[in-house]
Amino acid sequence: MSSQYDVIVVGSGAGGASVAYKLTLAGKHVLLIEKGPFLPRNASTLDVRQVFVDGVFKNRVQWLDGTGHAFVPSEFYNVGGKTKWYGAALFRFRPVEFEAEPDFGLLGWPFGYEELKPYYDEATELLRITTFKNEPQLQALLDKITAADSGWELHPLPLGLSHDIVNHPEEAKHFDGFASPSGLKSDAERNLIDLIRDKPNFKLLSGDPVAALVPAPCDAHKIIGVKCADGSVYEAGKTVLAAGAMSSPRILQDHLHASGVSLARSDLVGANFKMHINSAVLGFSPFVDHDVLRKTAVLYNDRFPHSSMQCLGWIDAELLATQVPPEMPGFMDKLLGKRAIGFWATTEDASSPENRILSGRPAGRPIMDYSLDRIPQSVKEHRALIDTWLERLLAAGLVGFEKYMGMGGTAHALGSMVTGHDPQQSVVDPRGKVHGMENLYVGDGSALPRASRVNPSLTIYAWGLRLGAHLAEL
Ligand SMILES: Cc1cc2nc3c(=O)[nH]c(=O)nc-3n(C[C@H](O)[C@H](O)[C@H](O)COP(=O)(O)OP(=O)(O)OC[C@H]3O[C@@H](n4cnc5c(N)ncnc54)[C@H](O)[C@@H]3O)c2cc1C
Repeated sequence: MSSQYDVIVVGSGAGGASVAYKLTLAGKHVLLIEKGPFLPRNASTLDVRQVFVDGVFKNRVQWLDGTGHAFVPSEFYNVGGKTKWYGAALFRFRPVEFEAEPDFGLLGWPFGYEELKPYYDEATELLRITTFKNEPQLQALLDKITAADSGWELHPLPLGLSHDIVNHPEEAKHFDGFASPSGLKSDAERNLIDLIRDKPNFKLLSGDPVAALVPAPCDAHKIIGVKCADGSVYEAGKTVLAAGAMSSPRILQDHLHASGVSLARSDLVGANFKMHINSAVLGFSPFVDHDVLRKTAVLYNDRFPHSSMQCLGWIDAELLATQVPPEMPGFMDKLLGKRAIGFWATTEDASSPENRILSGRPAGRPIMDYSLDRIPQSVKEHRALIDTWLERLLAAGLVGFEKYMGMGGTAHALGSMVTGHDPQQSVVDPRGKVHGMENLYVGDGSALPRASRVNPSLTIYAWGLRLGAHLAEL
């Protein structure tokens, strides 16, 4: 039976939308299958109570950590994936972050920055990345910090935001962790899927998760399509897994388990999982802060070469209340909210083959076996970064405290099916094809061997655009 589609893409986040966009414009017949629904385009996705307190749009699937404790990761299953909720800080990795760094436990890419550069450029245009001037109170604080310690380098934050957002205070205060109903924030749905949605060679199915890969009748190494949870089967010449770094490896693991296929290193599927070590740092000043956007700057310091310190956006009382002990009275949240300024401390976590995603199927729950004990060098740098920053805040007149995002803080999940030349060391080849399998590719953050010192999604978009360009030529 001939395939109905040239390519099936599983998942519509940064990676999947990029692959689908590129292939559709190249004239290929593309089926994009997304597990979640379309998000509403109304004020509900900006509402602190619905988004943060009630978690209306959050996934509720319970996972187990490596010690058997249940937790719910910060995954979002909807058209556009996590990009609908991200902070749109859209960075490029530095050339040095494509290289291995064995002393710090970091794997290398199979190619250098130059290979990804044209796709970074393309993604930069598509996502309309720009920078904003720091608002007065933020600038005054950052001036104090950088004047007192010249080790801190201050840079504008590259943002996928429309400059018009400053005229919409509700959106300006709520874009990181919220979905923009008016499209003032660039994301995978608005900036990629919307551009191909009406093309006759593109079809999007939402609300129906892919449950299994479909192998050729006599060869389970060869994938001919997918089966969805509702039992429907779709066939295509090529299948791209882009369900996110916590889901794509589980789909492949289930296939290997069900079919008995073994790859050169089946044990690497799910291994080397990374998600950055991320902490929020809040500083409280005696003065009320009137800035609105705030998330406009990033700082680096050579003493912490795998880390960055970003400004966070507006913190309102209700949002703060979700982070402080419940016994704290409501008026305190309001009082503190007006005086709080937030920072996002990120350190690249080393790769450990023991930090891994496991399907848990057929009987159990999915497992994220991730322990900071396996990557002490990253923990040490992160701790030093935060201690130094808290000292700087105090010297500038702000009392600070920090909160590690913990096991559930999977916003930056990646690396669970790394790319590389050697099938003994990696899961997908430098083009994104799964080693040892036919017609099966990986288009999301799973393929990234490194996380860098900054947020990963621009690199995932670029990886997806590059994979799409490659598949269009086949
Ligand atoms: C609150 C928040 C803030 C963030 N801020 C930033 C930021 O400022 N800058 C930055 O660079 N990054 C940020 N990130 C991270 C960024 O959003 C992710 O790195 C990026 O979206 C990952 O892209 P992906 O394609 O790998 O996966 P995802 O975006 O997770 O997409 C995977 C998609 O696959 C779907 N799916 C899963 N299973 C199946 C299945 N079985 N069948 C079909 N579909 C399936 C999911 O529903 C989802 O739509 C943030 C994330 C969060 C949550």
